[in-house]
Amino acid sequence: MSLYTGNIFMVVAPSGAGKSSLVNALLEQDSDVTLSISCTTREPRSGEKPDEHYRFVTVEQFMALRDNDGLLEWAEVHGNFYGTPRDGIQSCIEQGRDVLLEIDWQGARQIRRHFPEAIGIFILPPSIEALESRLRGRGQDAPHVIAKRLLAAGSEMSHASECQYVIINQEFSVALAQLAQIVSATRLRYATQAARNADLFSQLGISKTPN
Ligand code: 5GP
Repeated sequence: MSLYTGNIFMVVAPSGAGKSSLVNALLEQDSDVTLSISCTTREPRSGEKPDEHYRFVTVEQFMALRDNDGLLEWAEVHGNFYGTPRDGIQSCIEQGRDVLLEIDWQGARQIRRHFPEAIGIFILPPSIEALESRLRGRGQDAPHVIAKRLLAAGSEMSHASECQYVIINQEFSVALAQLAQIVSATRLRYATQAARNADLFSQLGISKTPN
């Protein structure tokens, strides 16, 4: 086991805030972040690949995983079940790798119970109109699904205050840079630096624990 425990980043947002595009762009530029692949009972959207975007499972498979303690957290979102598999995360952070979870506020709460140090990052749209047009523009969901998601967006955003960080996704490149800055700043925290650079800290006679 590494002395340095990886960070857990939870990215939370209403549908249509641009969360997945931001996360994908971050993963492309930062190979030290591992994405947790969630299980879901929803149907794949066109272009979504199994085990890359989600592990697509039946309700029976989902319940079996949940009942066998295979999920670190789970929630029902927009009428489908979503959950974070337990297996990958623990081993990742023990190896000192940072893990990123794309989850809803209910899942973020459960993760915080297991890992109080987990970093919550909430992505907000620049306006309610922008959110609506992004949901319609995606063109992949039926109108009644979009209407349901718009209603759910208000409820999701009412939990933004549970996150330590907020990014307003007006300009994609700015929002991406902000997300990367949060990741960088987290890696530079005293305890993390001390654990990662234990020899240097000893050599320099610096305490390994922050005050
Ligand atoms: P979508 O179906 O648009 O991919 O995701 C719908 C919602 O489910 C989003 O808010 C997303 O963050 C959330 N979600 C995705 N994976 C998980 C998960 O593993 N756990 C929880 N609690 N929510 C998830």
